Order: sequence, then C-alpha cells, then structure tokens
Amino acid sequence: MNYLSTRGAGAGEHHTFSDILLGGLAKDGGLYLPAQYPRVSDAELARWRTLSYADLAFEILSTFIDDIPAEDLRALTRKTYTPATYCNVRDDETAANITPLKTLGIENGAPLSLLELSNGPTLAFKDMAMQLIGNLFEYALAKEGETLNILGATSGDTGSAAEYAMRGKQGIRVFMLSPHRKMSAFQTAQMYSLQDPNIFNIAVEGVFDDAQDIVKAVSNDHAFKAKYKIGTVNSINWARVVAQVVYYFKGYFQATKSNDERVSFTVPSGNFGNVCAGHIARMMGLPIEKLVVATNENDVLDEFFRTGIYRVRKAAETYHTTSPSMDISKASNFERFVFDLLDRDPARVLQLFRDVEEKGGFDLAASGDFARVKEFGFVSGRSSHADRVEAIRDVFERYDTMIDTHTADGLKVAREHLQPGIPMIVLETAQPIKFGETIREALLREPERPAAFSGLEALPQRFEVLPADAQQVKDFIVANTGA
Ligand SMILES: *Cc1c(COP(=O)(O)O)cnc(C)c1O
Repeated sequence: MNYLSTRGAGAGEHHTFSDILLGGLAKDGGLYLPAQYPRVSDAELARWRTLSYADLAFEILSTFIDDIPAEDLRALTRKTYTPATYCNVRDDETAANITPLKTLGIENGAPLSLLELSNGPTLAFKDMAMQLIGNLFEYALAKEGETLNILGATSGDTGSAAEYAMRGKQGIRVFMLSPHRKMSAFQTAQMYSLQDPNIFNIAVEGVFDDAQDIVKAVSNDHAFKAKYKIGTVNSINWARVVAQVVYYFKGYFQATKSNDERVSFTVPSGNFGNVCAGHIARMMGLPIEKLVVATNENDVLDEFFRTGIYRVRKAAETYHTTSPSMDISKASNFERFVFDLLDRDPARVLQLFRDVEEKGGFDLAASGDFARVKEFGFVSGRSSHADRVEAIRDVFERYDTMIDTHTADGLKVAREHLQPGIPMIVLETAQPIKFGETIREALLREPERPAAFSGLEALPQRFEVLPADAQQVKDFIVANTGA
C-alpha cells in the first residue's frame, strides 16, 4: 500500500504506512491518503460480521498496512481493544463489545441508536484511535531504537486521550500544554492526576490559543525540533483516521442482520477526522446511505455541505460553546474529502487550499463538483446551545438515557435526516460527566459519574505552571529529556 499527498508533491515516491506513522503533514503541506482505497468483498463483509472488535480492527488495518508483520499487528490490536480498557462506564459483559450499540427507539420509521465510543479511559471517542496510536508508536520506536517527545496543546479531550494512550510507554514522553485554570475541574483532574514519569502537564498562564501558539513556535524551530525529537499526535495523523474506520463497520454489523441493508451515521464534527473515517468506510464498500455532518454554532462544515462555500473563520470569530470539542475555525481533515470530491486532482486541491490561506476559503457552488457531494452520501445540519439542552432533556425523558453536549448536537441533526426503514446511528462522542454544567442546566441534576471516576478531583495532581513563553517551555523540555 502506497500513500500519497493530497497536494501531489513527491508523486513518484513510495511511502508505506510506517513511513508516515510518526509524521503529520506531507512535505508540501498536504495530507496523506492511500493511493487507492481497499474494496471489501461481500464474502469478506460476511466473514467480518461475527469478529470481535480487536480482530475486526486487525482485518481492516491489514487492508491499509503491509509493512507490519501480521502477527505483530494482531497482537497490537488485541492489546489495544480489550474489555478491561473499555469497561469504564458499562459492566464487563457489555464492555466486551468495546463499542456497544444502544437502541433508543423508532422515530419517523427509522430505528435510532447511539454507537457508544466513549467508554474508554478518558470517556471520549478520541480514545478509540489514540489507544491504538500509543501501542503503534511504541512498537515502531522500539523497532528503530528511537525515542519521541510528543508536544501538544489541549483544551480538554485531545490532551487527555493522548496522555492516557502514552502513559508508561517506552521511548515516549508527552509534554502537554493546557490553559491554567481554564478547564473544568473534571478535565483538569483527569490529566493532572496522572503520576507517570513520562507524562508532563504544563499549565500555561494564558488561554488555549496561547498554548497552541507556543506549540507552533517550538515546532517551527526546526533545529530544536530535530535535536529533541519533537512530534505531535494531532487529528490529521493518518493512523488516527484509519483506526476510526473500524467502528463504522462494527456499528453497521450491530444495527443490521444482513449485508443487504443500508444504514446512516450522524457524526458530531469539528476537525472532520471522525466523519472522514466514515467516508473511507463507505469508499471501501460499507453500505452507508448517508453520512450526516453535525456541527454546533461553529458551522464551517454545515455551510459547505449546504452551499458549496468553504469559508474558514478567524480565531476571534470562533464561538466558545457548550460543545467545546467542536469549536473549530477550520476543519483540518477536510482536505482529505475534497481530494476525493475532486476526483483526486492534486493540482486543484493545492489551488483550493492556497485560496484558503490567501483568501480565507473557496467556493465550489457553481462547479459540477459540488453536485457530487450527494454521490458521496454527505448531508449536514447545525445545532445551538438551546438545541443541545432540548435534545439532552428529550432523550432523558423519552429514553431514560443521559447524553453529553456533543452527542446532543448529533442527535438534534440526525432527527432532520431520518428515512423510514433506514437505521440511523448517532456516534456518541463523550460521556455527560465531562460537561456537567450543561447537564445540570438541562436536567436539574448531576451528570452520571461512572464508578471508576469517583473521587477523581481529590487525587493528588502533578503539573508545572509556566508563563505563556515558548523559551521557558523549551527550557522545561530540555531539563526533562535528559538530552
Ligand atoms: C474531537 C471531538 C469531536 C469532533 O471530532 P472531529 O474528529 O474533530 O470531527 C466531537 N466530539 C467530541 C466529544 C470530541 O472530543
């Protein structure tokens, strides 16, 4: 399997999965995609229907990875997707499913359900991919005799998922910047209570953007980056995307009895990583009717799928909402879909994303390309704070189920795209306990707290407070890498 850049540079080069595993952007600023998507035959789909999550992950990853020996890859997926890692919310029996499907009911003739992706260690769907990444990175580094210092900035979900995936891993350290005193008590405790010596929490005196600017400044110091082996695990990482393809198959198998049936998925979206994996599953031949992109008030993606206009926002135009993990101004994985939409024409992708840099966006409305969005099954919708509160209340009253704010955005938008007879699967992306304030507003009660997290906020915390200054962060890294 060869990987190429969406912007076409190095077209004659060969990149394997392991070549791009630890990297981010391609040299030309594009994103990596396989040279062609593997197609799944009916016989394969039938055989996969009964596999465990770990073995299904092995089969799907094997179609994209040909430079890790099969027995090693199988060991990695079995180590990653074990009930013990996904039993933080459910009892052991249900946890064995890894991503159980929770049926809500029939609405407008469509069976409506939630695909539970947030039963992992940090109670958000990012664990699904990040836990695999942790094991893949450790494996790849050991093979090369290398080490890696992961530097990141977080306002919550991504940082904690990365830390829980990398804790205790050989050859890996994590330096995670977060805005000092700006995260919820629960999220702060989740990260800062980690005592593993390879995890470093840096509380930056500033806001999230200050932390992100520091990461950019350090990454742009190429000499420092090379000397201290600085890497990232952001959402453009190909391995993260491909790991997420697996649960679309698993969700499909749980919602159907035969491979003649079609289903739709609704995906609470921000950086377009999660729904991009759904697009890939569909390109592989999974019978998906619609992929519904749900946004919050930050509706860059909804605007595109309704109008054909992609208009990124400035940081100051980005709303801080009660579904904060979807508060994005541009969708960093969107280029992958645009590449397929434009029939994989790298010159046009390059031009369009130059327009994004220079003019703030592009307009495909008048071109025949936008009409093709339908062929790919994409539709969209947006949700507001009032919609979220209403959805949380309604689902609790009607189905006795508590959902978080991001899943609520998904549910609200899913209801606008139901079709009789076609199961609608809403991806559950986080647990309500992470966004307690809105739960209290909607339900006038406390969010459910999984037993594994009782007393979390009282645990001792380990973190370093630093001013919003790149040099001091560099000094801290130097002092803690022993290099
Ligand atoms: C990251 C995140 C999202 C958005 O996912 P993308 O892959 O960025 O589209 C949605 N909900 C939650 C809870 C998240 O953490």
